Amino acid sequence: MTLQFKSYINGEWLGGNGVADENPSDLATPVGEYALADVAQTQAAIDAANGARAAWGMSNPQQRFDALDFVGSEILARKEELGRLLALEEGKTLGESIGEAARAGQIFKFFAAEALRIPGEKLASTRPGVDIELTREPVGTVGIIAPWNFPLAIPAWKIAPALAYGNTVVFKPAETVPACAWAIAEIISRAGLPAGAFNLVIGAGRVVGQMLAEHPGIDALSFTGSVPTGNRVLQTATRRGAKVQLEMGGKNPLVVLADADLDQAVECAVNGAYFSTGQRCTASSRLIVEKSVYDEFVARTIKRLSGLKIGNPLEAGVHIGPVASSAQLDTDLSYIRIGREEGAELLFGGDMVECATKGHFLAPTLFAAKPDHRVSREEIFGPVAAVMPADDYEHALALANDTEFGLCAGICTTSLKYASHFKRHAQVGMVMVNLPTAGVDAHVPFGGRKGSSYGPREQGRYAVEFYTTVKTAYTLP
Ligand code: NAD
Repeated sequence: MTLQFKSYINGEWLGGNGVADENPSDLATPVGEYALADVAQTQAAIDAANGARAAWGMSNPQQRFDALDFVGSEILARKEELGRLLALEEGKTLGESIGEAARAGQIFKFFAAEALRIPGEKLASTRPGVDIELTREPVGTVGIIAPWNFPLAIPAWKIAPALAYGNTVVFKPAETVPACAWAIAEIISRAGLPAGAFNLVIGAGRVVGQMLAEHPGIDALSFTGSVPTGNRVLQTATRRGAKVQLEMGGKNPLVVLADADLDQAVECAVNGAYFSTGQRCTASSRLIVEKSVYDEFVARTIKRLSGLKIGNPLEAGVHIGPVASSAQLDTDLSYIRIGREEGAELLFGGDMVECATKGHFLAPTLFAAKPDHRVSREEIFGPVAAVMPADDYEHALALANDTEFGLCAGICTTSLKYASHFKRHAQVGMVMVNLPTAGVDAHVPFGGRKGSSYGPREQGRYAVEFYTTVKTAYTLP
């Protein structure tokens, strides 16, 4: 029986025309079918979310805790099953996918607890006898637009705080991952929320996403995706005064100094650049290596890459699954062509890998590139990285910061002096020492600077900034 992934609007599941949900590991066997929502359904979802504002916005903290804790507990209890669905649909290895499902569950648990301690302040007034209270209230109706690469965790880290702080939600996932979005919505639909407080609208970015950005019924918009789409959403939504938060792309550097533990550095580079098929906004796509260890680092990295198994993410022993979609594969292959045409030296990979089924299996690809090559400057979002030498630490830092992006940066070194300097001077929102640039904790802020991000941080207690508005009350008792 074909699985159907429907939109969830005002407490009802809504079907429509069936579109095949591609399985990137086996193009002949789709994951299921989904229905593309239209303008009328998007309008219905926005109306429903606005209709539920009073009920959910005034709900008591225990009710919110109970709902979010229910969702988190169920995701954690079903993390193997949900991880399997994620691996099928997005192509991450089963281990990575189960890990992501667990993280989504933990995020709901974290924000369940946050609902019980929504912060406020009481201050003395400069006027005698007057009390001042600062309280946080819901922003209202939140539109959530998500990418495909973390199809459980990213929706979780937007939906959970939105609901915890009393907002209602219209959630639009990426079209590539309707099954994961449906799975989350199906659990939320049984969590005891009033009808309309949470809505899932599966649809095209240019229809549903665009409408969320334009519509006056959406008070705040949390977007994760590419820079061009993010900038379009920003212009459209801020023109009408909506609150906007954007998390976008990266071209994250990993600096390897001569004093680094080289095996550890290679592990950080391979993990950061290629695991999850390189489809992480925090992927280490620029490897900047001090020249005295450059040749050795490259030789050990190539040896490590030669030992990786590319294949079906559900198979044991596979390190890297397929590229998530044909559109992303086209982008990856076009950058491999650009790298070659611009004169970057192909050190490893560059070709498709034959597997038992027809899928988007691409070999991890490493270029020796110059800093101004496009493969060194533009986000590719696939298993393609550029490595380049640096004269010394100062040169490496300058190369690391020479980018329009500012999401994450890493350094491998045994020097406290350089590690401390790098932590202070890397122009990014997140910095790693002797760790891959990708891989973060769920309870602390996540986000970047420069062209990578806009607005308040996501995750951890910092999420309260975006999902609430502050009220200052003066009382003369
Ligand atoms: P994308 O920009 O193509 O799409 C993101 C979302 O926007 C999708 O849901 C899409 O349907 C929607 N969309 C498309 N056109 C729209 C429009 N006109 N108006 C409103 N919404 C529209 O990005 P993607 O390919 O899904 O994801 C990959 C990108 O996401 C990469 O650039 C990656 O770095 C970034 N990303 C960033 C983070 C982060 O937290 N910084 C995390 C994960 C992914």
